[in-house]
Amino acid sequence: MDGQVIMIVEDEPDIREGIRILLKGEGYVIMEASSGEEALKKINEAVDLVILDIMLPGISGLKVCDEIRKHSNVPILFLTAKSQESDKTIGLMAGGDDYLAKPFSYAELIARVKALLRRYYVYRGKNQSPQLDKDQILTVGRFRIALDRNEVWKDGIPLDLTEIEYRIFSLLLQNPGRIFSTQNIYERVWEEVYSYSANSTIMVHIRKLRTKVEDDSQNPMYIKNIWGKGYRYETSKTDS
Ligand code: CA
Repeated sequence: MDGQVIMIVEDEPDIREGIRILLKGEGYVIMEASSGEEALKKINEAVDLVILDIMLPGISGLKVCDEIRKHSNVPILFLTAKSQESDKTIGLMAGGDDYLAKPFSYAELIARVKALLRRYYVYRGKNQSPQLDKDQILTVGRFRIALDRNEVWKDGIPLDLTEIEYRIFSLLLQNPGRIFSTQNIYERVWEEVYSYSANSTIMVHIRKLRTKVEDDSQNPMYIKNIWGKGYRYETSKTDS
């Protein structure tokens, strides 16, 4: 599974572009449509989530949602204007999974997108969907990780990870199968602006991380390097 695919259906170029840049930065693959007609023409099985503006030229977002629902359960996040939030509109939006009123913050948008994708994955029964228990402990294959503190276990045995190693592993483990570019990893783990020289820093930390999490760090099963793209966590076939 590569980066998840999100389709943005929005006629206002500035908003569309803003969302695109934001979500691309989060590692998603973006498809865009500036009208409902274009969206219905372009949508396909690969789309994992649709962000759908209600006020579109031509056919409305609500109608587009109806059409999509004839064939697909793909999660739909509506974008509305505050003035449109009448009870009637909210009723009509029932075919969608969630809605967000403009103007919204980017943090809010990302949170909604992630929550919907998570739900969708569980719904589809994808076995790679991580399971979080009530103590904020995530279990993925042989690993358990406490998301609110630096603690990781492999086969029940605690691993001694540095803060940076923990943050890299936590990022990968929370998104099994998703590829993170070195830029992505650097910006999210170090929270600094990426430059090319960061690549070797990341490599050093990943090498050390592998000596702690892999059975054989020379032949990694879990933290895979996808050439030219970045790194991802893979659920080993022997784990399931
Ligand atoms: Ca619009």
